Amino acid sequence: MTEIMLEPLPYAENALEPVITARTLSFHYGKHHAGYVATLNKLIAGTPYAGQPLEAIVRKAAAEQATPIFNNAAQVWNHTFYWNSLAPVGAGGAPGDAFGEAVARDFGSFANMKAALADAAVKRFGSGWAWLVAKDGKLSVISTPNAETPLAQTGVTPLLTVDVWEHAYYLDWQNRRADYVAALIDKLANWKFAAANFVRA
Ligand code: MN
Repeated sequence: MTEIMLEPLPYAENALEPVITARTLSFHYGKHHAGYVATLNKLIAGTPYAGQPLEAIVRKAAAEQATPIFNNAAQVWNHTFYWNSLAPVGAGGAPGDAFGEAVARDFGSFANMKAALADAAVKRFGSGWAWLVAKDGKLSVISTPNAETPLAQTGVTPLLTVDVWEHAYYLDWQNRRADYVAALIDKLANWKFAAANFVRA
C-alpha cells in the first residue's frame, strides 16, 4: 500500500526566525501538517483514492464532493506548498525575468503585488489561504476559505501562498494577523519558487 507521505521541510525548523519561530514550525509541521497526512491515509485506505498521487486525490475529491478526503488532502498539499513558498530571510530573491515582467504588467509594481497579497491575506475572514496565482499567463491574487485550494480550479496555477489559519501565527503574533502577513511577505516570501511555478504554468 502506497501511502501519502509527509514531505520533509525544505529548511530547519528555526530557519524562519524571528518571523516564524521554531516553536510554531514544530507544531504547525509536526502536529497540524502531519495530522492531515495521517487522517488522509486513514480515510483513503481501501478506497479508489488509495495509491493515487496527492494532486489527483485533491482534484478527484473536489469533483466528487468527498469533503473529508478533500479537506485533508488539500491541507496536505497546501501546507507542502506553503513551506516551499517561504525561505529564510534574504533567500527568496525578487521577481525577475518573465515573472518580474508579468508582475509589473499585471500589478504595476512588485510593491503593489505584495500589497494585494497582504490585503487578501488580512481580509480572508476566519481560516484560509491567500494565493498569488496565474491563469492564462495573467497573475492575480485570490484567497480561499478553510482547505479550499486553487489546485482544484481548472486552469489556475498556484504560484505562492500564505497560510492565515490562526495555527500559522498565533504562538508568535497572537491576534496580529496583519503583522504576521506583512513580515512574512517582506522577509520570507520565496519569489524564486513563485517564478519557477510561473515558468511551468
Ligand atoms: Mn496551516
